[in-house]
Amino acid sequence: MANEQVVLVTGGTGLVGDAVRYILENSPEACYQKKENEKWVFLSSKDCDLRDAQATKNLFEKYKPTYVIHLAAVVGGLFKNMKYKLDLYRDNMLINDNVLFYSKEYKVQKVISCLSTCIFPDKTTYPIDETMVHNGPPHNSNFGYAYSKRMIDIQNKAYHEQYGCNFTSIVPCNIFGENDAYHLEDSHVIPGLIHKCYLAKKNNTPFIVSGSGKPLRQFIYSRDLAKLIIWTLREYNEIEPIILAVTEEITIKQVADAIVKYVGFEGEYKFDPSKADGQYKKTATNAKLMRLNPTFKFTDFDTAIKNSVEWFINNYDTCRK
Ligand code: NDP
Repeated sequence: MANEQVVLVTGGTGLVGDAVRYILENSPEACYQKKENEKWVFLSSKDCDLRDAQATKNLFEKYKPTYVIHLAAVVGGLFKNMKYKLDLYRDNMLINDNVLFYSKEYKVQKVISCLSTCIFPDKTTYPIDETMVHNGPPHNSNFGYAYSKRMIDIQNKAYHEQYGCNFTSIVPCNIFGENDAYHLEDSHVIPGLIHKCYLAKKNNTPFIVSGSGKPLRQFIYSRDLAKLIIWTLREYNEIEPIILAVTEEITIKQVADAIVKYVGFEGEYKFDPSKADGQYKKTATNAKLMRLNPTFKFTDFDTAIKNSVEWFINNYDTCRK
């Protein structure tokens, strides 16, 4: 097709990539639908190991993308971050360096990469905003992952200043939704707890939540984030990062209560305060997003968690776990 624009989505098979595909295909709102002249390509690690420079070059040569939505990363929850600091640092540094370098080489018009609110300084003032990414060391529990993500922002600025590239980044808070990764030890808090609670119900055993249940977190539903990523592609034109988060903070106990409710678990349910809590809170503000996109409506947490639990139960045999 003449004027075809190729949108390459790295990490296209993950939680967020899958949600972007879903929204493009299913949203009733025209602003989130695929445009006629667009070809969206969703990649998995099987299509290309982005840690490998030559393989990444071959990928860019094959697709010659107009835009890149760079979601691929080695990610995990608190316990994976604590165990594999060096692996998370190295793998993500290699992936990001290759994707950004070949985006420059192949003259990609815009790259959107993904940071995270968990990479902000540990000792800080609240709320955290986009200007504070580099204002002090991250929490010790995830410094490998955090520094690799922070370097994306450095690279974006350097590519812009030296080569005029339009590379930017988004900063989501904790994400959850359909097609998450549900490993019992290494996953993020919501998918991990959904899986644990499901097994507790099935096996008639206690549901034990690691930590005190007190830490506060912000959670965004993957399908809301997907809409905001499409909006970022179409409407956001700064190099500076933009936080994509809800403002509401909830405790891990509130999360676990909602999971218990939708799994329908009626057995013994308790917390294990001998396990790490991680950072107590990481309150981020979405004021910049709300200024630029004031009409955006987030799905309420209860509906989103209900959808996520139902998806897990219906896809138990085949989901990532
Ligand atoms: P997932 O773990 O669900 O998916 C990761 C994706 O990256 C998969 O498509 C995976 O491919 C791909 N990938 C992993 N390693 C490689 C590699 N070496 N080469 C090529 N592709 C690779 O991640 P999410 O969807 O949860 O995360 C998307 C982005 O959002 C990431 O950048 C993450 O850092 C960020 N983020 C996530 C948060 C969360 O709570 N989940 C919070 C804040 C930010 P395959 O399917 O083949 O394994």
